[in-house]
Order: sequence, then structure tokens, then C-alpha cells
Amino acid sequence: MGSSFAFPLSQGTRPARHCKTSFGARDFGGFQDCFFRDRPMDTARIAVVGAGVVGLSTAVCISKLVPQCSVTIISDKFTPDTTSDVAAGMLIPHTYPGHVSQGRGFHVLPGEGEGPDASWHSRSSALMLLFLLPCEEGLVCFPFHHDRKFPEVSPAMLNYTPIHTQKQWFRETFNHLFAIANSAEAGDAGVHLVSGIKGSGGWMLTRRIDDLWELYPSFDIVVNCSGLGSRQLAGDAKIFPVRGQVLQVQAPWVEHFIRDGSGLTYIYPGTSHVTLGGTRQKGDWNLSPDAENSREILSRCCALEPSLHGACNIREKVGLRPYRPGVRLQTELLARDGRRLPVVHHYGHGSGGISVHWGTALEAARLVSECVHALRTPIAKSKL
Ligand code: FAD
Repeated sequence: MGSSFAFPLSQGTRPARHCKTSFGARDFGGFQDCFFRDRPMDTARIAVVGAGVVGLSTAVCISKLVPQCSVTIISDKFTPDTTSDVAAGMLIPHTYPGHVSQGRGFHVLPGEGEGPDASWHSRSSALMLLFLLPCEEGLVCFPFHHDRKFPEVSPAMLNYTPIHTQKQWFRETFNHLFAIANSAEAGDAGVHLVSGIKGSGGWMLTRRIDDLWELYPSFDIVVNCSGLGSRQLAGDAKIFPVRGQVLQVQAPWVEHFIRDGSGLTYIYPGTSHVTLGGTRQKGDWNLSPDAENSREILSRCCALEPSLHGACNIREKVGLRPYRPGVRLQTELLARDGRRLPVVHHYGHGSGGISVHWGTALEAARLVSECVHALRTPIAKSKL
């Protein structure tokens, strides 16, 4: 019993395979041959759409938690070209609208306007994408301003996720990342490592999906981790971009992170570069770097840390945060012309995808497990 992916259990290791295709949008014939020739009849075929930190970690969690399944990641972009690759990687206990994260279990630094010079210096680990700061709880994190005006979300749009669930997502992710931070591979931190895939591959297919039905009948279950792509793929008008531009620079003498009170200006040192930020531009889809944005970011960061005037190898990066009033973690049964396709939606992490991805991925894998169970149970199957 095992899953054929990065962590096959008793089925033995399959070679990592990254399959690029050029066939037409509705032609999965070759794809079937490529992936399922040796598939036992009762193996559930699962497609994960999206290869950001959310899609990759979801694929890993499914392969670990769901017995007898094959997992294929299908995405039009892979690392280093996803939003997840642009993230500075601060672990912030984002609460999704309507919630305040300042509860027991979190050590929270003072917030906007409450501290000296509205800037905060702390000792950070040197690990890119992880900034783990020791304190009583093993972690220091920033406050979420519940009275904060950005992004604007109308209360009517709130998608209630209990605060204890959000804390669980954050803690599970923290534990996952903490283990990575203490592992031998920590120096290679990046989206693959953070998502748990560790470069071991699995079945990956480079392809844009325009309609989830394209995956039927090649797959039994689809997991939608397409982030902002869900605006089209799931027809979800609630998800929108919040553009973020950052600079990745070489400044190895910067060893501490600095963040202003609003969180708009920040300097996060990592293993391979220092990230200087940033912007938050609601509704802006522009993925091209803007020279004026870059000048402003550098000027704001140099005001906080003048030695950055000597930074070199400046690279401009842009990512679109997939904002939504609440992460969508939900099973939907698509039906068309008498056909049924179970879809587990897992997207909408806004500014907090790195902070909670492992926790939400575990939850998504549980939903997939329920779908697999239903497919294998005749009575439940009849409802699918
Ligand atoms: P993505 O990384 O965007 O992945 C979506 C995937 O779906 C991509 O592979 C894409 O190619 C694929 N896809 C989309 N549509 C289709 C389609 N139709 N067909 C096939 N494939 C498709 N978070 C933190 O927790 N801490 C931080 O410090 C932090 N800093 C950030 C700084 C910046 C500047 C930005 C922009 C974001 C930051 N974030 C941070 C937020 C974090 O990056 C996101 O929450 C996270 O990356 C979302 O991950 P995702 O996998 O859902 O989306």
C-alpha cells in the first residue's frame, strides 16, 4: 500500500520524472500511457494543479497520507517562476479576515507605531525562507493588525475559519519548517525544500489547464492549488492579486532582519541573498518589475540600513499574492453530462502561504482521503 510520488511507501522508489508536453489541451492519451501503464486497478489517480509551495506540499502530504494513489503535479510554471519563489519567507501567523492571531502560544512583537523608531531588529537564523527567532514559545512573530485597513475586505465576504484551526495550520507549518531548518539540507532552502519535496521529483507535467474538466477521465480526483489561477479555473471572483515587488541583493554583512512597523519596508537576510521589500498593490496584475518601485524600495531600505548602499547584484522580482477572504479548503463535486469529478480546492493564501502551507496541505490531504474513500465505497461512490 503506497502512493507513487516523491515518497512512495511500499511500492518502491520510482525515478523522478519531469514530463514536458506539447500535446493539445484535450489530449491526455499520451499522458495516460506515460503515467498509468503499471497502475494497479484500485490506485486512485490524483492530479494536483499548481506547483507553488501550496501545490507541492499538498502533493507530498497526499503521497504520505493517502494509501494507494498516484499523484501527478500539473502546472504551467514551476520553481523558480512561481509567486512562492518571490516570498521573503517570513513566518507570520496571518489570520485571514475577521480574526486576531494574538492569542496564547504566540509571542508577539509590538505593532505599528508602538516601538522605537517603528522598526524592529531581531536575531534571525541565516536560513533563506525561514526566520525563526527563539523566545519562550520557540518563535517570535509579528502581530496581525485587526484594525488594519489593507486589504479592504467587506465583512459580508468573510469566510469563517476558526482561529484555533488557523493556529493549528501555523504550528504544523512551523514544526515542519523547524525540522528542515535543523536538517543537513537547510542551506539549500527554496520552494522545493520548504514544500517537503526536496528535489526528489515525482510526476510533474508542465501544462496550462484552462478547464478542470480537461483532467477527466484521466484522473479520479483533482486538487486545485492554482493560487490566483483559481479566478479562472474555479470561477472564483473573490480571489484577486496583491502585487509585491522586492529586490534580491548581495549584502552578506547584513545578518539581522529589519522590518518597519507597517511591514511595507523590510530587509530579510537569507542564505543566498537579502530580500528588500516591498510593495502591496491591490488589484495590480503587472508581473514586470517597475523601475520606480525598485528605486523607492532601495531608498526606504537604505534609510533603515545605510550599509545597503553598498549592496550588489540587485535583482528585481515580482509576485502576485493570491488574496481571498479566507483560504478555500473545500471539496466540490463537479458534474457535467452525467459525469462527476471530485475537486478539492486549496488556494487563496494571500500573504501567508509560506507560513501556513504545511498545515493547510495536511487538511487538503485529509479531504482527498475522504474522496478516495468515497470512490472505493460502493454506496458513497454512487453519490460521487
Ligand atoms: P503560487 O506560488 O502562485 O502557485 C500557483 C501555481 O499554480 C503556480 O505553479 C502556477 O503556475 C499554477 N497555475 C496557476 N494557474 C494555472 C493553470 N491554469 N494551469 C496550470 N497551472 C496553473 N508568505 C509568507 O508566509 N511569508 C512571507 O514572508 C511572504 N512574503 C511574500 C513576499 C512577496 C513579495 C509576495 C509576492 C508574497 C509573499 N508571501 C509570503 C505570500 C506567499 O508567496 C503566497 O501566499 C504563496 O506563495 C502562495 O502559494 P501558492 O502555491 O498558492 O501560489
